[in-house]
Amino acid sequence: MAGTDAKKSDDRDTWNHTTPVTFSPLFDWPPSPKDILLTLTKRWVTLTRNVLFLLMAWLVYRVSLQDLTTFQSLSANWILPVFLRNFLFMTLIAGGLHLYLFTLRAQGKKLKYDHRDDLEKSGKFSFRNQVWDNVFWSLASGATTWSLYETFYLWALANRMVPSFAITDHPFIFVAWLLILPVLTSSHFYLVHRLLHWPPLYKRVHRLHHRNIHIGPWSGMSMHPVEHVIYLSSVLVHFVLPSHPVLMLVHLYSRSLGPAFSHSGFEKLLVKDTAIFDSADFHHQLHHRFFECNYGTVDAPWDRWFGSYHDGSDEATRRVREQRKRMYRSKPAD
Ligand SMILES: [Zn+2]
Ligand SMILES: [Zn+2]
Repeated sequence: MAGTDAKKSDDRDTWNHTTPVTFSPLFDWPPSPKDILLTLTKRWVTLTRNVLFLLMAWLVYRVSLQDLTTFQSLSANWILPVFLRNFLFMTLIAGGLHLYLFTLRAQGKKLKYDHRDDLEKSGKFSFRNQVWDNVFWSLASGATTWSLYETFYLWALANRMVPSFAITDHPFIFVAWLLILPVLTSSHFYLVHRLLHWPPLYKRVHRLHHRNIHIGPWSGMSMHPVEHVIYLSSVLVHFVLPSHPVLMLVHLYSRSLGPAFSHSGFEKLLVKDTAIFDSADFHHQLHHRFFECNYGTVDAPWDRWFGSYHDGSDEATRRVREQRKRMYRSKPAD
């Protein structure tokens, strides 16, 4: 259970954020078509991590996935490059963000949520070092599970076991996939994340991720192998619905590389005081501090509908603390 860690983190005034968390207007009533259209399209037409993932997926598709016959039989000749590519991508993105924000401290503490400088060096982490612990779980388990899903998909696609379409035949379906993907992944994340907070699973599996209270880019994919399998299972939708390899890769990159941004601890990336990229996700930062709130993301309103929403306000902090007290009174602490 989250009790012990949550109590420890609760007493610290560790975060620094002024604007409340707001949800996507997609499910607001009455609907505002202009806001909905803006929210759905903005991430694909402005400089965001989604555009970066789409470009990477397109490049990988053009360079490596043109001849599907290569993937018809399981062979180290193509599986090894899949693994190496994904290990490299994760090292570049999570390692690059860590280098920029925590090693070089290129933007100091500007737009940093947590006032502490360094990540932890304590016995609760493998190697008594949070960064090395996070790097280990992200690469050894995270990049491996991601690569296994990718390998399985390419093999199934080459053997015509999954439905697919050509972009030139159905460009609108391709765009519709991109627009709906954040809502789909957000909903899946909410569901599996609630499941991971079920005490038996929390204790054996999800607790590994929650050892990270002051979070950094490598914390995002620092999870137990069972959590990686559950968390990345949202990509199984491409085995059922007609899809395209680029969509599968964008989906995998957003799930596997997106957490490096969302856990970076800095709201935006600055170059000489100019914001160039949205980075951390305050909604999820609050989850790492208060544990029993914000299980999903702002792309789908499940936390709002089920009363687990923390918007960063003092009132929400009081409410979540009250809820947690009730929860821990009714369950034995671990
Ligand atoms: Zn997290
Ligand atoms: Zn959690």
